[in-house]
Amino acid sequence: MIYDICIIGGGASGMAAAICAGRQHARTILVERMPRPGKKILATGNGRCNLGNLALSGQQPDYSAFYRGNPLFIKDVLSHYDTDAMTRFLASVGIYTHCRGDYIYPMSDQAVSVRNALERAIEETGYVEIAAETAVRKIEVQETEKQGSVFYVYTDKGTCIRARKTILAAGGCAAPKQGSDGSGYRLADMTGHTIIKPLPALTALRCRQAYLKDLAGIRCQAHVALYTGNRFLAEDTGEVQLTNYGISGIPVFQVSRYAARELDKGKTVTARIDFFPEISRSRLRSMIQSTASEHPDYTMHEVLSGLMNEKMAAVMARLALHSQKNLAASRWDGKSLALLQELLKCHVLEITDTNGFEQAQVCCGGVDTREINPLTMESKLLKGLYLTGELLDVDGICGGFNLHWAFSTGCKAGQNAAKRRKHA
Ligand SMILES: Cc1cc2nc3c(=O)[nH]c(=O)nc-3n(C[C@H](O)[C@H](O)[C@H](O)COP(=O)(O)OP(=O)(O)OC[C@H]3O[C@@H](n4cnc5c(N)ncnc54)[C@H](O)[C@@H]3O)c2cc1C
Repeated sequence: MIYDICIIGGGASGMAAAICAGRQHARTILVERMPRPGKKILATGNGRCNLGNLALSGQQPDYSAFYRGNPLFIKDVLSHYDTDAMTRFLASVGIYTHCRGDYIYPMSDQAVSVRNALERAIEETGYVEIAAETAVRKIEVQETEKQGSVFYVYTDKGTCIRARKTILAAGGCAAPKQGSDGSGYRLADMTGHTIIKPLPALTALRCRQAYLKDLAGIRCQAHVALYTGNRFLAEDTGEVQLTNYGISGIPVFQVSRYAARELDKGKTVTARIDFFPEISRSRLRSMIQSTASEHPDYTMHEVLSGLMNEKMAAVMARLALHSQKNLAASRWDGKSLALLQELLKCHVLEITDTNGFEQAQVCCGGVDTREINPLTMESKLLKGLYLTGELLDVDGICGGFNLHWAFSTGCKAGQNAAKRRKHA
């Protein structure tokens, strides 16, 4: 038997593609290496599944949340698939949404309900067969006079699936425990595509400073700016988590892709952290000086205790005064106060590494989007092959952008692969 479509990978984009293809009565097989499709969806949004973002809706959607190496491609894909289109698709499988700020979630606030609804919708089409616990190892294409072009999809079970179209939806290599082990890149490479080196993104950053272990566990509102030398890379503000190896939390995740790229080029990357983003330097100095002059016997730790976490006060005092950390406030000199101000408003940490693919939420890098038609998701290099989701060189920041990308590219690929299946 020759299927109309073979979908490799049953994540958000592969499941969306399967629903759209099945609804158009394309005989489809969805091949997934995990026991059930949609494992990664369960982990999204801390189990609540942040499906999308209002920034991608309205007359003037804002695409700046996506990596903008090829901004036209992102615009061409998403201008035909905005938030309304995505929520309509989700409603068609029985998922209704609500918002927290700009972030869109399922009304159930449960990722499991999204995975289950997608799975039910696939089954309901009656045209999609699921081959679970089956990994694709190789893809070949053969042109035959009788049958047109046919994809031969070889699996680790020793089987060969034949299909007129193939949708490669195998994800990247972030969070490999959820199924995406990077094999999608190898399959894309086999079909002639260029892979821009994948690196971890939306991940914590490791730092050189050993004193961070004394700050581990602290969460604070802070502004994080990344630099390579004096060149500004990216910034964000929010709740930063200090860990024994470095820095984490949403603002760190948001800038991490830039650190990954520069570190990969062998560049030095630093994070400059403002621990008091809502207080000016002069106001902070006058707060410290006022406590110090009213309590001249206080140590720096004691003065700082009213401004920040106890553990942080102790570390900052040690860094500003070194061996004289217990010096009374009346004896501090201008140099130590200036250093303290830098430590609090522009604390420099040297980034040594990212937290790796295991801990990353997405990858930056992937299949070069210049090789893909943004209107159909079909490869420009190999007719009949469609590529979707995180496998492509597109990554968004936290906030629902990556799932929106996965659903939009999956739906497009499914619809177009099914529509054009009679060509062969
Ligand atoms: C912890 C975590 C939290 C996240 N939270 C959010 C969030 O709240 N909002 C958001 O927008 N994004 C979030 N993301 C990112 C988002 O989940 C992904 O970008 C998105 O799911 C990618 O979808 P995909 O279909 O392209 O790839 P994947 O979901 O990775 O799916 C690929 C599928 O292909 C299968 N596969 C791989 N290789 C093969 C093969 N050779 N043969 C057969 N099957 C194969 C895999 O098992 C997998 O099921 C989060 C990610 C993680 C890890």
